[in-house]
Amino acid sequence: MLTAWASRPLSAQQPSNGHLTDKLSVIDGDGTNVVAFSFADGFVLVDSGAPKSGAKIMAALGSNAKVRTLFNTHYHVEQTGNNEMFSAAGAKIIAHEHTRKWMSTDYWIPDEDRYEKARPKAAWPTETFQTTGTLKAGTEQIDYGHLPLAHTDGDIYVFFKTSNVLAVGDVASPLRDPALDYFTGAWIGGRLDAMDTILTLSNEQTRIVPASGPVMTRAEFKAEREMMEEVRSRVWKRTLQGESPKEMLEAGVLNGLPRTWKDPFKFLYDAAKGMFAHHNKLDPSVV
Ligand SMILES: [Zn+2]
Repeated sequence: MLTAWASRPLSAQQPSNGHLTDKLSVIDGDGTNVVAFSFADGFVLVDSGAPKSGAKIMAALGSNAKVRTLFNTHYHVEQTGNNEMFSAAGAKIIAHEHTRKWMSTDYWIPDEDRYEKARPKAAWPTETFQTTGTLKAGTEQIDYGHLPLAHTDGDIYVFFKTSNVLAVGDVASPLRDPALDYFTGAWIGGRLDAMDTILTLSNEQTRIVPASGPVMTRAEFKAEREMMEEVRSRVWKRTLQGESPKEMLEAGVLNGLPRTWKDPFKFLYDAAKGMFAHHNKLDPSVV
């Protein structure tokens, strides 16, 4: 199950710039993926890139490009960094209503012990939804929907159904450490549920675009899901035994997995926080 990870060729570690079809491409927004769909009236984008990457994105689209619709997969600034620019140029911005909530109010960042200021109104999503939605761009059917508590409380997928390309934001993490914004309610259980939703929507030919890193096959995404299930089971057992994240790390809870973490303590800390917050949803038979 896990060999797809172990055997990932080195070339796949390169940025995922490039064309997926004649209408769909992935643009580098300074380390984060911007999905661009081209149709007769202009472009539909998924995510707006890291701050200050707007000119680079516009250069990739073409100087006269008109972005009609921009989706935000979640509120993080790496995915919403150029919202103001696209909104000022007339784009509609679609996101989950929780994404607008995080962008429109000051909020506390526990890791950094500080408040993050609300984003200016010009950056806020202009159209929000709760569960799912769909739109047409030329002949393309674009379905989108909420992935509750997978990475934040407002993650969404955007499925270019006709082209069979599925953008999943930070719900897949082929290169970066999987991240759980536990203070928004995100946790491993939510992440696994979201990954199962993606597996249900997709087929073997679907190309899955993460928020950063290379485009994934469904088999690669499934391997990440299996790895996450193994992590969930190990961390939960040790949480029940009263181990702290530091003790788990020292006991090698992440050893022997087909990937390594850049900051394993942060991941375990956030994972354990999330499990405490959701312990009432966990099956007692896991003990
Ligand atoms: Zn994120």
